[in-house]
Amino acid sequence: MGHEISRREAIGSAGAIGALGILSSFFESEALASTSAASQKVNLLELPALPFPEDALEPVIDKETVRIHHDKHFAGYVAGLNKDLKTLDQARQSGSFDSIKQVSRDLAFNASGVILHWIYFSTIGPNAGGKPVGKLDVLIKRDFGSYDIFWKQFSAASKTVEASGWGVLAWEPFSEKLLVLQAEKHQNLTSWGCMPIMVCDVWEHAYYLKYQNRRAEYVDNFAKIIDWPKVEKRFEKYCLNK
Ligand code: MN
Repeated sequence: MGHEISRREAIGSAGAIGALGILSSFFESEALASTSAASQKVNLLELPALPFPEDALEPVIDKETVRIHHDKHFAGYVAGLNKDLKTLDQARQSGSFDSIKQVSRDLAFNASGVILHWIYFSTIGPNAGGKPVGKLDVLIKRDFGSYDIFWKQFSAASKTVEASGWGVLAWEPFSEKLLVLQAEKHQNLTSWGCMPIMVCDVWEHAYYLKYQNRRAEYVDNFAKIIDWPKVEKRFEKYCLNK
């Protein structure tokens, strides 16, 4: 999965990220680095700093899990994405696309992994929890009936993802509706065009040290660390005011 790729090697293929440029505009850098301008795009090819201390999510998520999740797993997907884009650069230069099938699979996996981890780490935090705010609150009530119904659906989806994956609250831009999706691995079961807004990582690496096989307990507790004002802010900017 590219976890062994060194950071030095990983930085090598910047510039090939054009296809992901539209997606990258979603992630205003202030979500992970509070000093940056809101309009500044982020670089998906570099691992962003953790936006809170490693122990800030306790007791919901323990310090060690946060550290390994960010520094090893998230970093691994960033390295993998760099490697895949570099491989594609080399293929274009050589004119040989013999590996295109495998690289396409790897690119979908790693790019989706980077994007979902960007959202994950920038929409959770300490002093969070509660309920959605602003227009997102209105639209959750419109599209799900109430917050409680939404949360029942979202948590049920998250708890029942087969093997490794995600629960995803997404904006479907064609009919302008909110949807709850499941993602297997990072890239499977998506619907084209949907923008992930809030995500619950249910890979075992996200919870196993503290919860072991009790994924449902982790998902229930996850509600306590969702930073809804951050979710709402980016939702308005990139989904409603696009
Ligand atoms: Mn993860």
